[in-house]
Amino acid sequence: MNKIMITCAITGAETTKQQCPNLPVTPEEIAEESYKAYQAGASIIHLHVRNNDGSPTSSVDVFKKAIELIRKKCDIVIEITTGGAVGMTPEERIAPVSLEPDMASLDCGTVNFGNDYIVNTLPIMKQFAVEMDKYKVKPTLECFDLSHILSSYILIKEGLIKPPYHYGFVMNVPAAMGFSHKLISDMISQLPSESEFTVMGIGRAHLPAIFSALAFGGHIRVGYEDNIYYSKGVVAKSNAEFIERAVRLVKEAQKEVATPQDVRKFFGLR
Ligand code: ZN
Repeated sequence: MNKIMITCAITGAETTKQQCPNLPVTPEEIAEESYKAYQAGASIIHLHVRNNDGSPTSSVDVFKKAIELIRKKCDIVIEITTGGAVGMTPEERIAPVSLEPDMASLDCGTVNFGNDYIVNTLPIMKQFAVEMDKYKVKPTLECFDLSHILSSYILIKEGLIKPPYHYGFVMNVPAAMGFSHKLISDMISQLPSESEFTVMGIGRAHLPAIFSALAFGGHIRVGYEDNIYYSKGVVAKSNAEFIERAVRLVKEAQKEVATPQDVRKFFGLR
């Protein structure tokens, strides 16, 4: 793909309104923030939803409402999480795929998450791949570790996922893989052919991840899920603020931002 996809992870499961007053939480807020992200130049929304009290949920009803409201406003590509939140069962995490979003994240291995952990055994990964295929949902293969790329080979070998593949390198999650250019080039060296990758820098790795994506031929992810600070100590006013900066950087790099239509065409989405 010769254009740069910008994914916006607008809410996530962990960020709170206390940390980030403009965090979108209700389906209405999420839809409005998605529309602003779309207007700012995002190609894909990475979607988590919350209960009214702000706690994370994988409720099919809440996802349904958010997806319907977003689709009323714009054609941005919708990628739902199946990573969910710490403590959710695999059954809870995969259920919203039945809503036929365009894409969904597929975690490619068990990972530390600070003091917690998220379990992704090989049988869970296979089950998720089968469900995504059933509903024609394109997986984003989230890799929190080099071994997760190697695990994805098993899904490929068994015909459970199809090219072109979309990988996400999730870097700088506390107690998981850190962030460095060396690690990114090691990750890239292990990708199967017909792969695209998005670099997801958590916390302070957020901005270096954008530069790395541009330098290494990858794609960009920004948003409150990954990082709330626009600059040192300054909380971003909105997700759009992050996207606007990413768009400026893409243009300075003499590259083009992919539209949702470009992404749909490239991955053969609906
Ligand atoms: Zn997520």
